Amino acid sequence: MSTAADDLTEAERTRILAKTARFAPPAAQLADGRRELVGLSREEIIAELAAIGEKPFRAKQLWHWIYHQGATDFSRMSSIARPLQEKLAAHFIIGRPEAAEVQTSTDETRKFLFRFRDGQEAETVYIPDRQEDRGAVCISSQVGCTLSCRFCHTGTQTLVRNLGAAEIVGQFMAARDSYGEWPSPRGETPRLLSTIVLMGMGEPLYNYENVAKAMTIVMDGEGIALSRRRITLSTSGVVPMMDRAGTELGVNLAVSLHAVRDELRDEIVPLNRKYPIAELIAACRRYPAASNARRITFEYVMLRGINDSEADARELVRLIAGIPAKVNLIPFNLWPGSPYETSTQSAIDRFAAIVMDAGFSSPVRTPRGRDILAACGQLRTESRRARASA
Ligand code: SAH
Ligand code: SF4
Repeated sequence: MSTAADDLTEAERTRILAKTARFAPPAAQLADGRRELVGLSREEIIAELAAIGEKPFRAKQLWHWIYHQGATDFSRMSSIARPLQEKLAAHFIIGRPEAAEVQTSTDETRKFLFRFRDGQEAETVYIPDRQEDRGAVCISSQVGCTLSCRFCHTGTQTLVRNLGAAEIVGQFMAARDSYGEWPSPRGETPRLLSTIVLMGMGEPLYNYENVAKAMTIVMDGEGIALSRRRITLSTSGVVPMMDRAGTELGVNLAVSLHAVRDELRDEIVPLNRKYPIAELIAACRRYPAASNARRITFEYVMLRGINDSEADARELVRLIAGIPAKVNLIPFNLWPGSPYETSTQSAIDRFAAIVMDAGFSSPVRTPRGRDILAACGQLRTESRRARASA
């Protein structure tokens, strides 16, 4: 039975999706008529093959080459006979976003400026783990962002458009290319690029359909095969979509909390005016994929004299009591013209201690790639909406 509240949520969801349709990514069809295969679901690939008279089992073969082997060239597909390779190449491409710029930080963090087919650009960051032989790829979901969080550089760039599933998966695949991270002929599996954090430019839950499709592709067991435990989606708190992401994708959730009182959060995370703290925390409490083994991460940027008092820390632990959670304290990263300063080390230590004493782990996120503006909240590109720049 549907209640009024359900209807409201449904209406809200529909509105969100309709609103984002204006910012659609480019179609899969290129100017020369060929189609991009990356970003299509298995069913869509089967349909594309049927349209050129090929059987469904070919989709399985293609999937393996594209997503397991990382092939971009049909002529490398040794399990497919030459005439069919040529036919496929006449109809399809397996593309990658173009790396317009690649910068590597003194701490080994690598930032890619990816240019997509229509010339729009977004940034992707690879953050190697210093202890282990692996690392995380921080992926963008939108070019720009509709939300204008006061401390965030991306928030100063208006939303240009959503990224398509091909462009979202494509960032990960192109980053893997850059490290030669595909299975070797001897079958060694890639390790370096083994985690995805949806923490780049944009609000992933305002581009849910494309993000969900891309994550379904990377989780597919016959392709890239990342476990949902290796994917973390960060949201500034689009409450109705959190439920959907939890049920349909079951990935780890990170929530950009940053303030524990509505008055302050309304100001620094303006989305709070729509989904206030109580609603956000309620959505976290019911997030299906949260458990003691898979805790929700509350992200909390440390802004000097703004949100970093001991009273704030105590209110934080009161708010999240009972949620399987950890609190990630993020020293504020500066960007040109940014209006805040980062908290003092002693304020961070005191804050962390209060959270820790309440039983929540409270790691302080080490800033990575600050020298190349690759750290949290520093990403931004020159892309603009066509109409705005005309
Ligand atoms: N839009 C999503 C995904 C971006 S994740 C979200 O907001 O959650 C990037 C994380 O870095 C978020 O927690 C964001 O609030 C945080 N952040 C933004 N600007 C920052 C800055 N200047 N310094 C440190 N963290 C920042
Ligand atoms: Fe957008 Fe996230 Fe930056 Fe806020 S913090 S402006 S939601 S990218």
